[in-house]
Amino acid sequence: MAKTMTLRLAEVTVERLRLALEHKEQELRERLSAERAAEVVQRPEEPLDFGDWCQKSHDEWLFVNQNRLEMALLRDIQDARRRLEEGGFGLCGECEQPISARRLEAVPWARYCASCQERFVERPRGG
Ligand SMILES: [Zn+2]
Repeated sequence: MAKTMTLRLAEVTVERLRLALEHKEQELRERLSAERAAEVVQRPEEPLDFGDWCQKSHDEWLFVNQNRLEMALLRDIQDARRRLEEGGFGLCGECEQPISARRLEAVPWARYCASCQERFVERPRGG
């Protein structure tokens, strides 16, 4: 038993979350590199006129958006892994209360507790 650990999560849970984070990070990395390769292949050499672009853009928008989400997720996962090593994992970045084990099981890279996260969703930053 490591008494120096500040988190209130059982060690077995922490170990499982660590593995989940590693697994997810690897999966994202593989998918992102595959997508980047596909993007290069599919890039049109000639600029499309506006009509063509509109037909095509929905797919591309989805693709770019998906990519951006995955990049953001990858960053969150890396942050969570750093917090696992350096301390602070499982504590809300806003109110510094412990994030519930159930929430961490569902979202191991969660930065905020459920109630702080809800506040952020209601009032997005950067407006
Ligand atoms: Zn909080």
